[in-house]
Amino acid sequence: MSMLTELISREQIAARIRELGETIRNDYNDEPLVTVCVLKGAVIFFADLLRAIDRSTTIDFMRIASYGCSVSRETNVRLLLDLETNIAGKHVLIVEDIIDTGHSMRCVLDLLATRNPASLAVCTLLDKRERREVSVDVSYAGFVVQQGFVVGYGLDFAEDYRHLDAIHILDPGA
Ligand code: 5GP
Ligand code: MG
Ligand code: MG
Repeated sequence: MSMLTELISREQIAARIRELGETIRNDYNDEPLVTVCVLKGAVIFFADLLRAIDRSTTIDFMRIASYGCSVSRETNVRLLLDLETNIAGKHVLIVEDIIDTGHSMRCVLDLLATRNPASLAVCTLLDKRERREVSVDVSYAGFVVQQGFVVGYGLDFAEDYRHLDAIHILDPGA
């Protein structure tokens, strides 16, 4: 049976998202902004963050296979869903649930950079920065987390636990 231990409460998440939203709103002033949700894990964070940023933005979605870059170490993203928006000349903010080794986000950044956006920035709810294998410039990070596998608030283990309103550490052996 798996065991969950709460790591970050719903109140902590909400408070941090309010801060991130305000910072992002101030950083972009009135510049047109495209916000990109990396499916599926970031979807709940994205919905809350958009309302905390509290300004108009074009939203779009992409989905990559998590085993594409991060396991096989290929340089190409295994892209399952691409953006609809033409991002050339636009400010783009990528919203991700968690950055671990950095391979997935590195691939997303490299791909989107070829489309000549005005700027490209990353906002991740969770940053496992001690485990980084490739460098990724993270402009906005909600929480730095250490080792351990986390679930909840959009993050899954085998598609389960996404609905939980707090972030938990999953101990599958317990
Ligand atoms: P990276 O390419 O940075 O190593 O991995 C990024 C992806 O691995 C994340 O988008 C996520 O899907 C998955 N991942 C990495 N660490 C965790 C974790 O602790 N919990 C969950 N649920 N997914 C994780
Ligand atoms: Mg993700
Ligand atoms: Mg997953």
